[in-house]
Amino acid sequence: MMLVRSRIVWQRFVARGFATGGAKVKSPQLADVLIVGGGPAGLTLAAAIKASPALKHFKTVLVDGGDIKDKVGSFYDSPPENYTNRVVSLTPPSLDFIKSKVGINLMEDRMMVYDGVYVTDGCSNGTIDMEKDGISHMVEILNVQSSALKRLTDLQLGEDSFKLIDKTKVASIKYSDPNDATSWPIVTLEDGQAFKTRLLVGADGFNSPVRAFSGIQSRGWFYNEFGIVATMKLEYPPYKVRGWQRFLPTGPIAHLPLPDDNATLVWTHNDETTKLLVSLTPEAFTAMVNAAFVLDNADMQYYYNKLKEKSITDKDLIEDIDSRIQQVFDNLENESDIDECYPTRIASIIGESRARFPMKMFHADTYCAERIALLGDAAHTTHPLAGQGLNMGEGDTEALVNALEKATYRGLDIGSLLALQPFWADRYSTNTILLGIADKCHKLYGTDFAPMVGLRTIGANFINNFSPIKDLITNTLGTSAREPIAKK
Ligand SMILES: Cc1cc2nc3c(=O)[nH]c(=O)nc-3n(C[C@H](O)[C@H](O)[C@H](O)COP(=O)(O)OP(=O)(O)OC[C@H]3O[C@@H](n4cnc5c(N)ncnc54)[C@H](O)[C@@H]3O)c2cc1C
Repeated sequence: MMLVRSRIVWQRFVARGFATGGAKVKSPQLADVLIVGGGPAGLTLAAAIKASPALKHFKTVLVDGGDIKDKVGSFYDSPPENYTNRVVSLTPPSLDFIKSKVGINLMEDRMMVYDGVYVTDGCSNGTIDMEKDGISHMVEILNVQSSALKRLTDLQLGEDSFKLIDKTKVASIKYSDPNDATSWPIVTLEDGQAFKTRLLVGADGFNSPVRAFSGIQSRGWFYNEFGIVATMKLEYPPYKVRGWQRFLPTGPIAHLPLPDDNATLVWTHNDETTKLLVSLTPEAFTAMVNAAFVLDNADMQYYYNKLKEKSITDKDLIEDIDSRIQQVFDNLENESDIDECYPTRIASIIGESRARFPMKMFHADTYCAERIALLGDAAHTTHPLAGQGLNMGEGDTEALVNALEKATYRGLDIGSLLALQPFWADRYSTNTILLGIADKCHKLYGTDFAPMVGLRTIGANFINNFSPIKDLITNTLGTSAREPIAKK
C-alpha cells in the first residue's frame, strides 16, 4: 500500500516537474520491455535480450536522454590513439557474460588485461601484493556501450523488434490503471511518444526516474569526496602490468594500465582539493600525481598549501617534487625496487581528460516490484576503490536475463514479481558484500590516527604473507564474487 501511494505521489510530481515541452502526447504504443538508460548496463541488457533465443521475440524499447546513436555509435572502431577518461576494470565473469553470452565483440585493442593490484598504505609500509594473471581488464565505458550497440545493429532488427530512442528524456511514468499497481506502466517521453510496457527496467543511473516511480527506497551516503579521473601518458610502457592503489589518509589514488604507455587515474580527495587539482596546469598536475604515489602525506599537505596560497611556481613545484622523489628512490635497497614498488612515472596527462565525480554509496531496498526491475547504478552505487560498480551492474544484467529466460520457459508473465524475484535473490547478497568491502576499506584507510594505522599495517602485512586470506580477497574482487559462465 505504501509503495502504491509513493508511486502515485511521484506521478503527480512528474506531471508538475517535467513537461513534454509542449509536444502532443500520443496514444501509447505497446512494448514488452522498456529499458530507461543507454549506459553500459542498459545497452548490454538490450543486446542480451535480443541475442537470447528465449527472449528475442519480446518487443524491446530503449530510451536515453543522451546522444547514443551518433556519439556512442561512432566510437566503434575508433583507433586506439587517445583513450577516453571513463575507464572501468571489468572482471573475467563480467567479460565472459558480455562476450560469450551476449556475443558482444569488444574492441580488444583498446583494452588492457592486468595481472594483479599492488596496494600500499600512504602512512606506513603496509602492503598487499594481490598477484593474479588476468585478474581484470581495463575497458573504456564507451567501448562497452558502442560494442553493445554494434551487436544490436548486426542483429538487423526491425523497429517492431527493437527501438532505440535517444536524445529524449522520460517525462512521466504512470499506471495504465491508477488504482492497480500491477497494471502496465505508461512511460511518456519529452517528445510526446508514450509506451505501455509489460516490464519497465530502470538502468537509468543514480538519479533513476524508474526507481523514483517504483517507490523503492535507496539508502546510503555521500563520502564528501570527489574522484578525479584522467588519462595519462607514461614515461615508458610498464615493466609490470598491474594496478597500483595507494591509500592516502585524504583518499585513495589508483593508477591502472591501458595499452602501451597509457594509463588511467582515479584520485579521491575532498571537494576543495579536487577543485584545486583539476585547476592546475597539466604539468603541475602530472608532478602532483607522481608525488602522490611516492611521497608521504606531510609532503603532499605542504604542496597543497603552497598551491592554495599560489606561493609556488610550476617550475619550483616540479623541481621540488622530482628531487624529493629521487631522495626516496636513492634510499631503496635495490634499484629494481623502483619498478617493483612504484608505478611507472607519468610523463603527461592527455588534453582535457581531467574530470571529477562525487563519491557515494547507495543501495536500493530491493531491485524489483510488479512490472519493474532496477539494475546497475539505479540499484546501487559504490566507491570505485574496489573497481566493482559496473561489475555489479553486469552481474545484475546477467541475473535478470537468466530470470526472464526461466520465466519464459515456465510460461510466466515476465513483468510479474514471480518472474523477477529470482533476479533480485541472485544479486542482492552478492552486491551487499561488495558494497560492504569497498565501504569498510574506505573507512579503514581514511584516517592517519596512529593506533589505527598500526593495526591496519599489521593486518595488511599479515594478509600479504598468508596466502589463503590473500587469495580469498583476490578471488572475491577478481571475480566480483561470482563465477564465470564457463564454470557454472
Ligand atoms: C571515478 C569512477 C571510477 C569507476 N571505476 C570503476 C571500475 O573500475 N570498475 C567498475 O566496475 N565500475 C567502476 N565505476 C562505476 C561505473 O562507472 C558505473 O557503475 C557504471 O558506469 C554505471 O553504469 P549504468 O549503465 O548502471 O548507469 P549510467 O552509466 O549512469 O547510465 C544511466 C543512463 O541513463 C540515462 N538516463 C538517466 N535518466 C534518464 C531519463 N530521465 N530519461 C532518459 N535517460 C535517462 C543517462 O543518460 C545514462 O545514459 C567507476 C565510477 C566512477 C565515478
